[in-house]
Amino acid sequence: MFKKILIANRGEIACRVAATAQRLGIQTVAVYSDADAQAQHVAACDEAIHIGGSAPKDSYLRWERILQAAQQTGAQAIHPGYGFLSENEDFAQACQAAGLVFIGPPASAIRAMGLKAESKQLMERAGVPLVPGYHGADQDPALLQREADRIGYPVLIKASAGGGGKGMRLVERSEDFAAALASCQREAINSFGNDAVLVEKYVLRPRHIEIQVFGDTQGNCVYLFERDCSVQRRHQKVLEEAPAPGMSEALRKKMGEAAVAAAQAVNYVGAGTVEFIVEQPGGYDAPDAMQFYFMEMNTRLQVEHPVTEAITGEDLVEWQLRVAAGQPLPKQQSELKIIGHAIEARICAENPDNGFLPATGSLQVYRKPACSSFAISDVRVDDGVREGDAISPFYDSMIAKLIVRGDTREQALARLDAALAQTQIVGLSTNVQFLRHVVTSHAFATAKLDTALIEREKAALFDQTAVPTPLAAAIAVAQQLQAEQALQGNDPFSRRDGWQSHAVVRRNFSFLQGSATVDAVLTYGRQGVLQLQVGDVQGDLQWRVQGAGLLVEFAEERSTADVHVQGDARHIFTPRGAAVLELQDPLAHAGEGHSEGGRLTAPMPGKVVSFAVQAGDTVTKGQPLAVMEAMKMEHTIAAPADGVVQELLYAPGDQVTEGAELIRIEAAVAA
Ligand code: ADP
Ligand code: ADP
Ligand code: MG
Repeated sequence: MFKKILIANRGEIACRVAATAQRLGIQTVAVYSDADAQAQHVAACDEAIHIGGSAPKDSYLRWERILQAAQQTGAQAIHPGYGFLSENEDFAQACQAAGLVFIGPPASAIRAMGLKAESKQLMERAGVPLVPGYHGADQDPALLQREADRIGYPVLIKASAGGGGKGMRLVERSEDFAAALASCQREAINSFGNDAVLVEKYVLRPRHIEIQVFGDTQGNCVYLFERDCSVQRRHQKVLEEAPAPGMSEALRKKMGEAAVAAAQAVNYVGAGTVEFIVEQPGGYDAPDAMQFYFMEMNTRLQVEHPVTEAITGEDLVEWQLRVAAGQPLPKQQSELKIIGHAIEARICAENPDNGFLPATGSLQVYRKPACSSFAISDVRVDDGVREGDAISPFYDSMIAKLIVRGDTREQALARLDAALAQTQIVGLSTNVQFLRHVVTSHAFATAKLDTALIEREKAALFDQTAVPTPLAAAIAVAQQLQAEQALQGNDPFSRRDGWQSHAVVRRNFSFLQGSATVDAVLTYGRQGVLQLQVGDVQGDLQWRVQGAGLLVEFAEERSTADVHVQGDARHIFTPRGAAVLELQDPLAHAGEGHSEGGRLTAPMPGKVVSFAVQAGDTVTKGQPLAVMEAMKMEHTIAAPADGVVQELLYAPGDQVTEGAELIRIEAAVAA
């Protein structure tokens, strides 16, 4: 076994690898960028080497620098994690040339699976079922159009070099094909430096079911069963579980063996995932009717590997290290068993109510449920951040992975919901509440899974107020009273807020919830009785400190709550859900309704990809003006009003901060 390895990654995956290495007595070397100088993964390793600037191309993608760091520290092997260099065949090759072990498959296997089109040709020859489609080398647009017409609409155009949900276009009608092709090729060349595409039949209501495979240098290859990753947004996974609900033993074996055949066709060594798209013509619970088709193979450890660890009891990073050190697979196929059910939720810095736009900021409050880290248990949180850390625009928006396990799916679901309820994050928007809505939705709870679940259920998933507003207001008022008491002690005569013990006195509170004003009137009655009115809801307010939080009763509702105060904002967390109320200072109402005028600003930090206009152009409201990229997603920025472009203030490729002015527009004079 290795004595020392270098981990060429950051964040939770670097911490994840370090945890297993430490358990096995292997020394670890971290690498880090400017932005990550204080990061958790640096602290988690025995040594750390600075490798450059914050942008990935200046640090985590600089493989010569990383090889140098490995040599300088005497590391014998490099673990690439996922993303960054993990699927870079040149890097795998360069490791070998430098006398270092690349903890991953041979460069030849990465190459064979690197392009979706070429890998499909290979899989076709290996007898692995494929989605009907075209994956040839000829990229003549007229030919691609004919192929799409032949396949039949809807079709999906995919960048052959694509990944991470990028470079895909759904085309519903023949007449839309040419434009979609051009746009897909543009994104492909920009993002992957390769504009080759393939065309596939778009499977309706499919499931994404993938198989974890493992090979060793002795020629053994096993599958560690499946993961269902059907719950997606923007073709990116949100919830992953194992085993797949409704899976039959027969289908599991068939898919497992197909995945092993796929891996063996490229002499696979190490951890890999074969992704299948599964058609379910017989509905959700008819495994006998399910058809599975190869989509792609990811030649690395997968983000969602912990659910497989939870149901098999195996540490997949340990398997990776053993195999890379030349040892045989720790177990044979017949020794692997599924025990229980596991679900992973990806907690991301993003705004589900605004098209899942990535968010940045700092984790002013970051509280987790009782859990283990990087170790199989009923509740596990894998992360690479601590309270106070920043989620920067340079890297992925994932904050943490919450993994739960139960004897049954039902138990795992209950644990997941409870664990999400105990996850408190303040300082940036996250998808925690949204995840709770998905997890408790009828469709997910009853395993009616397909990749359109979020889109189809959106009415129920987005328009939910988890905590009734009157209760939220009561909690915010109680918190205010508690804070005042803590500040002034319990002596009522020292209070300066107008309250007097011998008189009934009212106090008005005004909160903002989103854009709605919530007014609360508190009346101090005799013997300390408090009456509260919120809108047309009225009742006694009772509260007391309980643990680190409050217990509040108001108008037939009773709830524990933790409240985190950030400036005017009251971030309220209850077992039912979270709410944010902004306490309005009655004196601070000036300057309302200010307009952005002729400024067009970046809605989030990110990179300017392109401008669709130039100075002098006349634009109309809603017209796309620029494309920005942030955290794996592209966002089109539209004109806020009619006008004339005066100046572009950035160039394509520039990194901009949130709120940066991108384009100056002179608004058209209203007629
Ligand atoms: P998985 O396939 O395990 O679900 P993702 O597809 O989300 O994982 O990708 C895993 C990680 O790899 C991401 O968090 C991201 O950092 C990185 N990644 C994968 N593919 C790409 C890509 N094409 N462009 C940028 N990052 C990518
Ligand atoms: P990536 O490399 O970005 O992960 P994939 O080829 O794995 O690309 O596809 C990503 C997702 O897109 C899948 O998980 C699935 O939801 C959807 N998808 C891919 N191919 C098809 C298809 N032929 N029909 C329907 N949905 C598809
Ligand atoms: Mg994929």
